[in-house]
Amino acid sequence: MPAYKRILLKLSGEALMGDDAYGINRATIVRMVREVAEVTQLGCEVAVVIGGGNIFRGVAGGAGGMDRATADYMGMMATVMNALALGDTMRQEGMTARVMSAIAIDQVVEPYVRPKALQYLEEGKVVIFAGGTGNPFFTTDTAAALRGAEIGAQVVLKATKVDGVYTADPKKDPTATRYASVSFDEAIARNLQVLDATAFALCRDQKLPIKVFSIFKEGALKRVVLGEDEGTLVHV
Ligand code: UDP
Repeated sequence: MPAYKRILLKLSGEALMGDDAYGINRATIVRMVREVAEVTQLGCEVAVVIGGGNIFRGVAGGAGGMDRATADYMGMMATVMNALALGDTMRQEGMTARVMSAIAIDQVVEPYVRPKALQYLEEGKVVIFAGGTGNPFFTTDTAAALRGAEIGAQVVLKATKVDGVYTADPKKDPTATRYASVSFDEAIARNLQVLDATAFALCRDQKLPIKVFSIFKEGALKRVVLGEDEGTLVHV
């Protein structure tokens, strides 16, 4: 039995990159999609917010002298590309997925309409949210918190490179240990990096728990959904 009826999974753009330096790695995206398929087979409703960092990041454009808002719109468009790739891979793997975008690109992808997203989820379709929040100066982490709250997800699952939140940076400090769970207040007091500040504040306000886990650890997503000891749970 899944521990959650409905989840919001945040995948960074880098999660699709594999060992490549840029873009989408075929084997990696297929593996990712199969992991998502496993949890849908458990009866869990899945919505995904996909990032764009494997293609373009607004801050990088801004730092390169571009107007920051324009660069951010490019970043949002990068998330749409990833979402299309993800949706297509899901189709190839026999799943039914719908991509919904926060920025209008009507010929390519349907717009985000909340009741429709809820309907798709109830029908057992995977919903992929593209375009972040639709606003510059935000991140896809914030989109994950926002959409997670909107669709009534029971948890935001943040897939990262490390398998949870640690007492210190495990790459620098070998004595660092992983928190199995930590409260929002404790995470603030200890200055733990979970999500960006806006996303974190939104989850905290909405009492929406966050689970941080490794996307590179095979089967981790399924173990998280089954409520097993995997990653770090940030709770109220
Ligand atoms: N972005 C934005 N508003 C949003 C979400 C994303 O402007 O609501 C832009 C921003 O430039 C960001 C880029 O899209 O750098 C890609 O998103 P993000 O960096 O969150 O992707 P990830 O790091 O998860 O791959």
